[in-house]
Amino acid sequence: MSIKARNLTYIYDEGMPFEHKAVDDVSFEIESGDFVGLIGHTGSGKSTLIQHLNGLIRPSRGEIEINGFKISSDSQNLTELRKRVGVVFQYAEYQLFEETVEKDIGYGPKNLGLSEEEINKRVRESMEAVGLDYDKYKDNSPFELSGGQKRRVAIAGVIAMRPEVLILDEPTAGLDPGGRDEIFELIKNLRKTFDMTIVLSSHSMDDMAKLVNTLMVMNKGRLEMMDTPRNIFKNHAHRLREIGLDIPQVLELAIKLRDRGIMVREDAITIGEIKEDILRELKKGKVLDNKEFDNIEDNRKIKDEINKDKTDKDEIDNNGVDKEGYHA
Ligand code: ADP
Ligand code: MG
Repeated sequence: MSIKARNLTYIYDEGMPFEHKAVDDVSFEIESGDFVGLIGHTGSGKSTLIQHLNGLIRPSRGEIEINGFKISSDSQNLTELRKRVGVVFQYAEYQLFEETVEKDIGYGPKNLGLSEEEINKRVRESMEAVGLDYDKYKDNSPFELSGGQKRRVAIAGVIAMRPEVLILDEPTAGLDPGGRDEIFELIKNLRKTFDMTIVLSSHSMDDMAKLVNTLMVMNKGRLEMMDTPRNIFKNHAHRLREIGLDIPQVLELAIKLRDRGIMVREDAITIGEIKEDILRELKKGKVLDNKEFDNIEDNRKIKDEINKDKTDKDEIDNNGVDKEGYHA
């Protein structure tokens, strides 16, 4: 399912003294099957934009077109659209309400009027897709689960609708780093299992950069950039910093190294990608021994790797380089 937005503008409380333009003249196109990361500070308009994608709110100006279905300020009948575009809202676990995990995940399919058999099949598949064992958890109350597990149940409930487009609004918000990694891993797997267009929002760049094919960067309601993560980092690293968004730590390091004449690639996203460059430069006699760098976690990792390589120099080959797997 493709998504096109043309001059999309959304104004809260329009005409009131305190009206607020949350989305400001945004145009873009997302192709079917794409994996898109929507990045921006709190208040930049991500959630407002996301709510347009399944017609939950309608544009104040402009229009959005989903697989040829146009939503503008006066569109009617969005039921069909909502079946095809599934949204996992921020802190979706607060919307769990059934007595058991099974009933909660099966709620949407049941409302579609599907057979018991089909509902059960979908619940099992969805639970498996989010890494929850069916037999172990089906009879649990969602409220007895951990925060991360609740969120998985909420995601499974949307997956059970078999949407063609899956939207996740800050799916890792409020989770610890371990829980965050698990959710990102899960999303990556969903993409492999189901044939879906995925859009997820986050205010953390580091996580998203390795995951998605396309980044959309929002700032104060405007869409400032839309491109592959690599191109964005290569062409707009400066601007990203200016609007206060972090860039991947590896890229930060690469920029500092280049500033000091150590030539490493400037669009790096994983350590593996600049490791060879650094090793090559080291051989030329340039050292990576600056106190300032020690503050960067990835730099420590690089140093560890380099030390490993020093003890076993001949083993520097391609196998060791790309462990992190970009766009795996
Ligand atoms: P994000 O998801 O990027 O944090 P939002 O879309 O939630 O951004 O908010 C964009 C802007 O719109 C913010 O300035 C926010 O305060 C404002 N806003 C969001 N929801 C409402 C609302 N229901 N009424 C009025 N203003 C709102
Ligand atoms: Mg939001």
